[in-house]
This record gives sequence, C-alpha cells and structure tokens, in this order.
Amino acid sequence: MTRTVADTKPEDHLTKVPVQEAVLNTYLGMAHIAGTGPEGTTCRQCIFYCSRNGTHHWYSHKRKDGRAGLLKAHYCNRPIVGKAERMFPFDAASCRLFEPSERPPIIVKPAPPKGVK
Ligand code: SF4
Repeated sequence: MTRTVADTKPEDHLTKVPVQEAVLNTYLGMAHIAGTGPEGTTCRQCIFYCSRNGTHHWYSHKRKDGRAGLLKAHYCNRPIVGKAERMFPFDAASCRLFEPSERPPIIVKPAPPKGVK
C-alpha cells in the first residue's frame, strides 16, 4: 500500500536526524563537518587551529573573578578553496581533516614565570 500525505502524522518529521545534529554543531570557518574526526578530539588539538599570521593573542585577559584567561577563538588554517575565514571556539568537535598537534595550546592561560607581572 502506498503512503500518501494524508497518512503522514505530524510527529513523523519531528525527529532529529544524526546528520542534522552534526551540521548544527559545525561552525562557519571549519574545514569540514564537526564530529567527523577522531572520537573525543577538538579543534584545539589540531595542527591547523591557530591564529592568523601569528598576530592574534592566544588568551583572553584575566577574568573579573581573578581567574586566568581562557583560550580565545581562532581560525582553521587548513587550505580549503572557498572556506570562510572565521574564528570559532577551541572546543568545536574535530572534523575528518583533523591532524594531531604535538603541542596543542592549553585551555587556561599559563601563569607567568615568578618575578614577571
Ligand atoms: S579539526 Fe582541524 S582541520 Fe578540521 S576544522 Fe578543526 S582545525 Fe580545521
């Protein structure tokens, strides 16, 4: 028996499809769809996640409550034709073009050496 529009219930189309979920978690500026990289990794751990031309500061200033600043949003520098040049948060789930960095930036701004303010 063929289903018609009249047979369709409203709740049939209210379920999120997994692909939609991944696209919703993808930021403009990423090289590919978020969550398609190695399990549990984020863009922060990827060699392509960095500042543009080395001119962007890595960390925000000290927070109002005195805690150290956090890692700021940065760019994905993976060369992809037509990719948007936008910054996005470090905790974005990695994409399938992920390549592990040997020294990923830490999340909280490191304390300055003793004697330096
Ligand atoms: S995992 Fe790497 S290549 Fe993919 S979007 Fe993030 S920084 Fe770019």
